[in-house]
Amino acid sequence: LYATYLVIPFTAVLQGIGLLQKGMGALGRVAEAQSLPVEDTSGAAMPERGGIALEFRDVWFSYRDRPVLRGVSFTVEQRSHIALVGLSGAGKSTLFSLIERFYEPTSGALLANGTDIRKFSRHQWRGRIALVDQDSPVLNGTLRDNLRYSAPDASDHDLHEVLELANLDELVQRLPAGLDTELGERGRALSGGERQRIALARALLTRPELLLLDEPTAHLDPVNERALHRAIHRVAQECALLVIAHRLTTIREADRIVVLHAGEVVAQGTHDELLAINDFYGRLTAGDFVDNSKSFEAEISPGWR
Ligand code: ATP
Repeated sequence: LYATYLVIPFTAVLQGIGLLQKGMGALGRVAEAQSLPVEDTSGAAMPERGGIALEFRDVWFSYRDRPVLRGVSFTVEQRSHIALVGLSGAGKSTLFSLIERFYEPTSGALLANGTDIRKFSRHQWRGRIALVDQDSPVLNGTLRDNLRYSAPDASDHDLHEVLELANLDELVQRLPAGLDTELGERGRALSGGERQRIALARALLTRPELLLLDEPTAHLDPVNERALHRAIHRVAQECALLVIAHRLTTIREADRIVVLHAGEVVAQGTHDELLAINDFYGRLTAGDFVDNSKSFEAEISPGWR
């Protein structure tokens, strides 16, 4: 029995701890969301529809006493495509949580078209943004039900439009009953890449002006990889896009890349600019850095800059 314990690879133990932390994080978010400060009912008018530019201005954030974001400043301009890259634990998901207002910055502010987003009602603000997670669920029911979940009034024309944006038009043609095809138990008949693009299409139906996308870390086959890449490219023409990027193709195409390390923005620029000025960035993107991230973490000392 002892021998069995001894041969559990250390990495598996680390992964287990990571999963546990993620789970605890989610629980923490629920608990803290329930105790969020009372809404500022004085309220500011939301910017007119037509485009949101989001600025992080010297944002600091701690989970309890532990600083996780340290003076983060960058802007997602209207209709721009910004890629966020960094090792696991750098604070990327925390940035998303602040945008969604699950948490408030400890100091500093997030501004939408110049106004602190805390001044908007949470409900109105969330109506202007959308999040596509790494594993957004596909629900039981038809493809149509799945898409209209967050936009019940959407017409078939709207559905086809977002399906095309998400590069799913071919899938719909292949399905036996098109939009009326039952996707089955949690969309099990679909590949991971298709499921994420369905989540993307669903998010687009709400006409977000800022889309937050956590690109899958899991391996995608080349067809799905290309399809996701094309979808990201198209979506970036429609609204501002902030992507937690794990793939070089997505990173390369961004208007700007924000490199986050241990809660700090350590560099920003285009792929070529960053390659020229930032050694860490070069090593991060030299291969598929998701697979290499463990070795990077081992390799890079805290003072790598
Ligand atoms: P990954 O790519 O692994 O998702 P990340 O860059 O998104 O990493 P975050 O999830 O933002 O990083 O986490 C940043 C730091 O904050 C990590 O050290 C993490 O353990 C910690 N953390 C995240 N959520 C919570 C929470 N709810 N309570 C306490 N600490 C948290």
